[in-house]
Amino acid sequence: MMAVERKYFRRFTFAEYVDYLKPFVSQVKFSQVHVHGTWKPTIADYRKASDKMKIIQAMWRFHAITQNWGDIAQHATIDPDGYIWEGRSLLEAPASAVGYNDPDNDRIHPFMFEMIGNFDVGAEKLEGAQLATAVKLTSSIMTMWKLPEAQIKFHREMNPGKSCPGSSVNKTSFLELVRDWRNVDMSPADANKIISNWLSPAWFAASSKAERDEIHRLANELRKASGQL
Ligand SMILES: [Zn+2]
Repeated sequence: MMAVERKYFRRFTFAEYVDYLKPFVSQVKFSQVHVHGTWKPTIADYRKASDKMKIIQAMWRFHAITQNWGDIAQHATIDPDGYIWEGRSLLEAPASAVGYNDPDNDRIHPFMFEMIGNFDVGAEKLEGAQLATAVKLTSSIMTMWKLPEAQIKFHREMNPGKSCPGSSVNKTSFLELVRDWRNVDMSPADANKIISNWLSPAWFAASSKAERDEIHRLANELRKASGQL
């Protein structure tokens, strides 16, 4: 018997989701990261919805009941505000692309996420908090499961009939952002401590504009290195 309705999906911040992922490193082996855009629902649909969870539930209903995929297709859904909604169990293979799902219950399969939006050229834009979360999530899965860059797959690479995650999303640019993010390992808290405890006093004590400009530049480098700029 199939469950008639799945009522609740948790919503995480990126940091909360990384904590949620940690115990799964020993329970499942992600072999790839599969990147998708929903096309529908759109960002506009999401903005219009007064109860955002209904958008996730509608995807679940379409995938699980209409398509008969057993559950929502993806492991995670990134909304336009950069939050991550839970999807199907991480221990189960996704319904990502025919021939690429590895659905043999050996707990080795791809990690699949969807980004809500229509990212085809001329439609909506993948940007801001949503793009940042997509980049950081991809990077974190690669780091935690020790995956090489070649194992990041856009849906259209597995199914050339599709533009997914959207024809405006350039794979080379996306990989560059992931690479940049992977080189960051300073926490925002540490960077801000250095700025407020050392650089700010030095700025006030500086005797020339050149010195102040240099201190300002260093503070911005710290903000960048900690992912704040
Ligand atoms: Zn797709």
